[in-house]
Amino acid sequence: KLKEEITRFAPSPTGHLHLGGARTALFAWLHAKASNGKFLLRFEDTDSERSKKEYVDSIVSSLSWLGIKPDDDPLFQSNNIELHKKIAFDLLESGKAFSCNCTSEHLEEVRKKQIQNKLQPKYDGLNRDKNLTHEKGNVIRFKMPQSGSTSFEDKILGTISVKNKELDDFIILRSDSTPTYNFCAAIDDFDMKITTVIRGDDHITNTLKQINILHSINSDLPNYAHLPMVLSSEGKRLSKREGALDINEYKKMGYLQEAMINYLIKLGWTYKDQEIFSEQEILQYFNINDVNSSPARFSQDLLNWYNNHYIKCNKNNSLLDLIKTSSNIDYNPEDNEKYPEILALMGEGANTLIELVDSSRFFYIQPDYKNIDYSLIENSREILAKFASSLDSFSFESHESIEKEIKNYIKANELKFPQLGKPLRIILSGRENAPSISELVFLLGLEEAKKRIERFL
Ligand code: GLU
Repeated sequence: KLKEEITRFAPSPTGHLHLGGARTALFAWLHAKASNGKFLLRFEDTDSERSKKEYVDSIVSSLSWLGIKPDDDPLFQSNNIELHKKIAFDLLESGKAFSCNCTSEHLEEVRKKQIQNKLQPKYDGLNRDKNLTHEKGNVIRFKMPQSGSTSFEDKILGTISVKNKELDDFIILRSDSTPTYNFCAAIDDFDMKITTVIRGDDHITNTLKQINILHSINSDLPNYAHLPMVLSSEGKRLSKREGALDINEYKKMGYLQEAMINYLIKLGWTYKDQEIFSEQEILQYFNINDVNSSPARFSQDLLNWYNNHYIKCNKNNSLLDLIKTSSNIDYNPEDNEKYPEILALMGEGANTLIELVDSSRFFYIQPDYKNIDYSLIENSREILAKFASSLDSFSFESHESIEKEIKNYIKANELKFPQLGKPLRIILSGRENAPSISELVFLLGLEEAKKRIERFL
């Protein structure tokens, strides 16, 4: 039996959830589920100026749409500040941290010199061993070990190691007594008994600091799995600023939850050659060790391909329901019994539910013939008029029966298919590219098909 894992997703509520974050949450959730463990949600909201309730709500709703369900109420880092402070003072007391009153002028000077000498800027250690009394206005800095190295075995990236002399005596408690990010995160992971920390690989330098904090409070270390970035299609970093979308937007655009999950899981994870995974299969096969160690790339085409696949899987009534919940459009089969078939047919070529709604519209709203090429129809008036009057005798039983009727009609009238098909498609659908003529005629029905041709002529 596997050890029950406790993982967490720890977003800062300073923006919406985007693809990279959603993938991190999904992998953390799956890793917990693989061992029957727990997945927790922690909002890192200590930056009170940038953290907003609006983003908390937005992230919660994105996760809930994706079906990534935390196993407990979300935690807010700001609620844990008393513990952070207490531990900072304990570390000060035990000599594992020190009080520092360096002025910003001094720090700036040191920094400048280091940069001039091509050294990595870091605290110069001025007050490290002075044992200053902690006075108002001082900060508390962590005493980073000065020899040896800090290493860990990342589940995705392998061994990561850095010499301790490259690490900084970083501030853990600011002069206004607020704890800093790396300190809070380490304490919270300890406090929440996190067994595996799963996050983006932009946090590796933070991990090295956090490991030292955890050592200083005699905590066991969690496992770490750093996910390589999701890059844009051009190979740049996806960032909120660079146009990465709020996950809720994908829902609004008519992406299906299953498509989104299937797409996200493939951003860095593979299982044999399989492309399509049911939720059950994902839960069964996912293993964090199988995540690729090189960056994934965003592909709109692949996302669309998945969405089209799941639109096609959700035939008939479930498609009507999905459209109703996502866009409030009610295709009531009592108004038109062919709605389920219309949507299933048009779903074949639709990338999103919105596209599906748009492309199906001509079935129940007369096309406006705004952008059509009239020359394609001009010479066909007679053919069309005759066809319209023959429609009464067609069997409208099924799409296949119509297909047969049309074939016979073309033969009997010595026509070539395009002579009838081309102008007819334009008249019935208002477009040059549309489903087959027999599908169009069948799904529009005798009356509507006839009406459209006669009115047009
Ligand atoms: N709050 C951090 C972020 O939004 C996550 C840190 C973590 O997962 O430890 O990137």
